[in-house]
Amino acid sequence: MFYRLKTDFRLSIITLLGASAILGITPFAVFRFVQGNLLAALVDVTILAGIIVSVTYAWLTGRTERSGLFLAVMTSSSAVVVGAVTGEPGLFWVFPCLVTSFFLARPRLAIIINIGAILALMVQVDIFRSAVQMWSFAAGAVVVSACAYVFAHRNESQRERLEHLATIDPLTGVRNRRSMDQELALAVASADRTGLPYAVALLDLDHFKKINDEYGHSVGDEVLVDMVALTRQNTRRTDHLFRYGGEEFVLLLPGTHGAGLKTALNNLQQILRKHLKHPGGPVTASFGVAQLAHGESVDSWLARADAALYQAKASGRDCIIYADPDPEQSETASSQEECSLT
Ligand code: GH3
Ligand code: MG
Ligand code: MG
Repeated sequence: MFYRLKTDFRLSIITLLGASAILGITPFAVFRFVQGNLLAALVDVTILAGIIVSVTYAWLTGRTERSGLFLAVMTSSSAVVVGAVTGEPGLFWVFPCLVTSFFLARPRLAIIINIGAILALMVQVDIFRSAVQMWSFAAGAVVVSACAYVFAHRNESQRERLEHLATIDPLTGVRNRRSMDQELALAVASADRTGLPYAVALLDLDHFKKINDEYGHSVGDEVLVDMVALTRQNTRRTDHLFRYGGEEFVLLLPGTHGAGLKTALNNLQQILRKHLKHPGGPVTASFGVAQLAHGESVDSWLARADAALYQAKASGRDCIIYADPDPEQSETASSQEECSLT
């Protein structure tokens, strides 16, 4: 529970706001009920019920975006209703609600929600003592929303940048191993749920160290960049390429198996053989391929691909080896072998 609160910012905001709203609104609901103001008490109870439902939904489903948006709409409309029912004192609640929208929803949606709330209050002219008071309220609410928008927008772009830095390999622009771990875990979960076939191909450039040693590190870097460009151009949009480390890459192929998988990888192998070059000639790659088995873990799946890659290297390189589909078999067992004759 604490782990989820620590790692999921929106969930922690939803929980914090939910808890403070429950603590803050409950006494008002009781007070209004005791006072005999049943309409206001009913509004408070409805707000409390909505908050409890959306916080529970966020915890149970993990869909915090949906739940956050619902809470943002709910808090703003509650502010409007409270303003309409209680008059001037209710207007003070609008300001924290306007700021809260930006914690719960995307900045653009939050600004739309806020403008809607401000307009909805302004059309109820009776709430305000005078036109001057109404326009002062509107100006204050717009300034608060604009400042919160700038802050939230900046925050979101910094978060996106940090996420990019944490998941993208700076040299080749493909996703890194950290991102791969998440994607493979999702693939395993999706295969369990939907039965969709998944395969991974571990690609390792052959004799890459020699290229670095003979022509320099920057030439080696160029080969890596070219290899990524060629692979991206010659695989499906739904396939994902990750840099596993050094000159080793992982290609995740969702929805591909059997003959289709072999055709796709043979094609990629030939493209690399033909078009990937360094100053001294062509550069080839070895492939270790494993189809995800039913109920298999990510570690076992990758280990089988790795063992197949080891065999591809041992078989003379520029070679594709398919791991045995049964994970119970020895890690080095392989069912297929398609090596270059060149
Ligand atoms: P094999 O055919 O068995 O795979 O041999 P290899 O030479 O390709 O493999 P080895 O593991 O011996 O060498 C990999 C080299 O890749 C060593 C390392 O210096 C180089 N390398 C790793 N990352 C980078 C990088 O980002 N840029 C460059 N230029 N070289 C890198
Ligand atoms: Mg290599
Ligand atoms: Mg290697």
